[in-house]
Amino acid sequence: MKFVGAHVSAAGGVCQAVIRAHQLKATAFALFTKNQRQWQAATLQGDMIEKFRRACDEYGYSARQILPHGSYLINLGHPLTDALEKSRNAFIDEIHRCEQLGLSLLNFHPGSHLLQMEESLCLARIAESINIALERTTGVTLVIENTAGQGSNLGFTFGHLAAIIDGIEDKNRVGVCLDTCHAFVAGYDLRTEEHCRQTFQSFDDIVGFGYLRAMHLNDAKSGFNSRLDRHHSLGEGNIGKTAFSYIMRDVRFDNIPLILETINPDIWAEEIAWLKSQQHSAQ
Ligand SMILES: [Zn+2]
Ligand SMILES: [Zn+2]
Repeated sequence: MKFVGAHVSAAGGVCQAVIRAHQLKATAFALFTKNQRQWQAATLQGDMIEKFRRACDEYGYSARQILPHGSYLINLGHPLTDALEKSRNAFIDEIHRCEQLGLSLLNFHPGSHLLQMEESLCLARIAESINIALERTTGVTLVIENTAGQGSNLGFTFGHLAAIIDGIEDKNRVGVCLDTCHAFVAGYDLRTEEHCRQTFQSFDDIVGFGYLRAMHLNDAKSGFNSRLDRHHSLGEGNIGKTAFSYIMRDVRFDNIPLILETINPDIWAEEIAWLKSQQHSAQ
């Protein structure tokens, strides 16, 4: 089964995200459980948690269809001790919010060396941060997203993802979210079916499909290998529609949230309907 949706707004409370997803006829969704650009957030109140859980039940979303996204401020590979500590605490707080909401996944960007640290040391530090978070929490799988490689962000090669996973003690609670835009601008071509075959084969060889817990389905406004993170609507960017149709027909992408972070929310319902229509289409 394919679970398809979008990263919907949680304005008005997390339960509103569920309603927005339902209105899009989505079978998956992503959300922020707090303002993603602020360090502090009010704790989730009992009635809000209850409303969220009830809305999920009512509209038929189980935890495996929901992909909360972590704050953009968190840098689990921060070169400076105090800032690293702040990020680790905020990360653990995010995981606790997921636990409270009954969610089982948390998607996040691995981290940045800020030009103050060697790549390999930063990757090891990210793994250490994940180990600490796993020790202090239960039930939530931490889902590392591949990045565009903009600035000093790590996680833009499959090798980076594999190196982080290699340093993690409890590999049962770690996974990967592949963002098609990020992969493409980081040098993994997806423009033709042959490119898709090669890119996903390489992912399987280096990371392994066993770790794939989610996808972000985004076309790219920026160019191949540009390392610039600019999303576009499906078929309107430099990747084109082929890759998205390919993913919908490939069983390796079954039973995980496939999430649009495309730039025009007005056409999300259409994009979701189109993706669903590709599942059984001819090659
Ligand atoms: Zn993404
Ligand atoms: Zn992006």
